[in-house]
Amino acid sequence: MKITDAKVFVGGPGKNYVTLKILTDQGVYGLGDATLNNRETLPAAYLRDYLIPAIIGMDPRNSEDIWQFLYRGAYFRGGPIAMAAYGAIDMALWDIKGKIAGLPVHQLLGGRSRDGALVYAHAAGSDLEDLADSVAARIEEGYRAVRVQCGIPGMPGAGYAVPGTRGARHYITDFGGLRPSVEYWDSGRYLRYMPGALCELRDRFGPELKILHDVHHRLMPREAAAFARAVEPADLFWLEDPTPAEDQDALRLLRQHSTVPVAIGEVFQSLWQCNRLIKQELIDFIRVAVTYAGGITPVRRIVDLAGMHHVRTGFHGAPSHSPVSMAAQAHLNAWAPNFGIQEYLVLGTAECDALFPSDHRMEGGLFHVSDAPGLGVDFDEALAARYVYAPGSHPVVRLEDGTMWDY
Ligand SMILES: [Mg+2]
Repeated sequence: MKITDAKVFVGGPGKNYVTLKILTDQGVYGLGDATLNNRETLPAAYLRDYLIPAIIGMDPRNSEDIWQFLYRGAYFRGGPIAMAAYGAIDMALWDIKGKIAGLPVHQLLGGRSRDGALVYAHAAGSDLEDLADSVAARIEEGYRAVRVQCGIPGMPGAGYAVPGTRGARHYITDFGGLRPSVEYWDSGRYLRYMPGALCELRDRFGPELKILHDVHHRLMPREAAAFARAVEPADLFWLEDPTPAEDQDALRLLRQHSTVPVAIGEVFQSLWQCNRLIKQELIDFIRVAVTYAGGITPVRRIVDLAGMHHVRTGFHGAPSHSPVSMAAQAHLNAWAPNFGIQEYLVLGTAECDALFPSDHRMEGGLFHVSDAPGLGVDFDEALAARYVYAPGSHPVVRLEDGTMWDY
């Protein structure tokens, strides 16, 4: 069996999905997702210009060797652009493997460990009342777990992932061009306001709702430790990215002062970036994505390492992930003995479901993975021709005096 060609598509409904389709001499094809938010053309070019020409002629069944060829064969290893491109190839090879075996990918990993995988949705509000309305709407939709982000009184601009006005939706990516908008941050106001807001939500929605909160790397280690201690009465399911991810020792101070569960890793690109945090048991959930952590092959190793250290999975599932990588994660979620939760924001719009048809379904706050062979997602190339790349950017974050801060 041989890889004969591969195509890359960039575009989608309100997103620049980077979709890879690997073709074989036996008519079976595989799909992968290389979407790297706001840098989408780069993994697409890496695939087209360097990787696809190198893998044509290889046997697609040898996914392990092809992953090692891509990773170890490069002198300059890793980085999100390369890992997203490798991730797409790896997903597509598992898709092909499943299709030729007639089995869904989760069966190739070891089968189902659960009926449905718990997911969490996002709720956000410009103020606490607006956020409470958003949480109530998610519960109404059937979600059992919600990430909550709230505007901070007196903080100019919106803060992280919150709409500027009540009742508005917040879109993190602005497709108006490549010059980012500016949001403002004030750790003091955040630290004074947010613990009480989280406790208020817990009081309103009762003990059963799983409440998650994302600090988005914005606190100093001492501040994060104080914040974690202050939010303990809110009984969070997790506290996400309390400090910048580069300084992994920063979490030690938080651990010494709080038992709040910590989730980190959505910007990590390899097992080696996860290794220390997992082995030293400084986190409770590992947040990697199959896209920029290099595909199913390396993420399965991360999941196994995590399992040895009581760390559960909580894969990244921002809207930048296409239904292809969300399916790859769904198969890992169905199998992983140490599954925790899945961030879930992508499926469910008519345009997206038409572009990526599948039998995967969400019901009662649980994601039910399809039993179709491979990843269980298809791709409508004719529909894809409708979409074009739209330049977009995240906001950047500054303090009130103009100092750049962590996004
Ligand atoms: Mg996050």
